Amino acid sequence: MALLINDECTACDACRPVCPNEAISAASPIYLIDPFKCTECVGAEDEPQCQLVCPVADCVVPNPDFTETREQLLEKYRARQS
Ligand code: SF4
Repeated sequence: MALLINDECTACDACRPVCPNEAISAASPIYLIDPFKCTECVGAEDEPQCQLVCPVADCVVPNPDFTETREQLLEKYRARQS
């Protein structure tokens, strides 16, 4: 499942640089996660880095439109590396 940034976002830019998949962009007025790039950090990190660094509670949440298994997320990550 990809994550999404909801409208609690303050556009602080903490998340964008830590994403291993370059999935986060500085859209206006809030930041945006590309669900086709986000792997929930599977393949690269033990936990979602954007959630770790986000200073706003419950701002980065699961994207209900992109439910994927861990295996699918890993495949997505590997495909992006090749
Ligand atoms: Fe990037 Fe990981 Fe956040 Fe997805 S969960 S947007 S891969 S930092």
